[in-house]
Amino acid sequence: MKTLHIHKNKVDSILRRHPWIFSGAIHSNTEDLKDGETVTVEDHNGNFLARGHFQHATIAVRVLSFEDIEIGEAFFIKAIGNAVQMRKNLNLFTETNTICRLVHGEGDSLPGLIIDFYQGVAVVQCHSIGMFTSIPAIVEGLKNAFGTELTAIYSKSSDTLPNRAEVVDEYVYGSCETPHLAIEHGVKLHIDWVTGQKTGFFIDQRENRNLLGKYSKGKKVLNTFCYSGGFSLLAIKNGALLVHSLDSSKKAIQLTEENVTLNDFQEKHGSIVADAMEYMKDLPEDYDIIVLDPPAFAKHREKRHKAIQGYKRLNAHAIRQIKPGGLIFTFSCSQVVDKSMFTNTIIAAAIEAGRNVRIIEQLHQPADHPINAFHPEGEYLKGLVIQVD
Ligand code: SAH
Repeated sequence: MKTLHIHKNKVDSILRRHPWIFSGAIHSNTEDLKDGETVTVEDHNGNFLARGHFQHATIAVRVLSFEDIEIGEAFFIKAIGNAVQMRKNLNLFTETNTICRLVHGEGDSLPGLIIDFYQGVAVVQCHSIGMFTSIPAIVEGLKNAFGTELTAIYSKSSDTLPNRAEVVDEYVYGSCETPHLAIEHGVKLHIDWVTGQKTGFFIDQRENRNLLGKYSKGKKVLNTFCYSGGFSLLAIKNGALLVHSLDSSKKAIQLTEENVTLNDFQEKHGSIVADAMEYMKDLPEDYDIIVLDPPAFAKHREKRHKAIQGYKRLNAHAIRQIKPGGLIFTFSCSQVVDKSMFTNTIIAAAIEAGRNVRIIEQLHQPADHPINAFHPEGEYLKGLVIQVD
């Protein structure tokens, strides 16, 4: 195993257990290293600092351990076992909820690895080549944690590790027909990790969808950026009068309609294929509740200013047109737009719309998407429920 040395003045963040080591911090020559190699990291005096996966990129090392231990099958069995146990301790697996994120990268001290679980099937998504080459050990970790509860593991990293011939999406254990049935807060969902976005579903909004349910009784709801209709289903299950789901993707609306039919909710549902930004300019109907859950408007800091303008415009349209006393569930999953920036943007939208707005709920990512305290960058999902007078 190769050893890399860190510049004398760059060790502090590693000592604070931040799991990323940037290429600029590395003193050693890394030319001979291959992407994905496990490396040992030492300070200029040769003291052990960390061990992790190397990649020729800005984030050069993703740290897997700050202790001098071997990163092999036993490591993954233990780390995945811990992650699964944490979710079991939080009672996240129940009869009415069979969907859960099992591993959330840095939040589970496994940077570069995402594993989502859909009623017996694990979908593995790697963000580093080191994790991709560790898949055999990850499979052992999952089998060990679940035993016979696990029917299949699907590896899906061609979106996150593009242009690499070795990265193929396939079952690496068992197999399962898609779409696959799973349950979230009592509603049935068809999940398709093969053709769907990300791992097939946006698990991170589970508790916020449940909260929408609590406010939906007797209400008319517009769910924009609906993808497979999760918010709409929870609203109808909890007594909404009528829900309209909107997405610019025909495929997403098709998924939504299939899920609506699966739950026998057709009578209470209508769908709209449209660009949300355009549609929101002039709503043809009145709504009591509007959900705004756009994709990340900014993936990088340079795009942040434009993203904020986008959030402001979208929210101003909703605030201007919602029924008096109505609620807006508004979200941002852009990591570079932090909580206070997002709140300020919504306040700016309220000023622009010229109506009184109260913040009644402050929302975030759920417990199965934990934030490692030493990696604040892991906080990405934020939301507000606002009431418009
Ligand atoms: N709220 C969803 C997840 C949203 S993902 C859930 O709970 O599962 C973001 C969705 O926004 C995707 O389905 C994407 O197709 C859609 N989208 C992206 N740009 C859009 C636009 N301009 N107008 C409408 N929908 C858009």
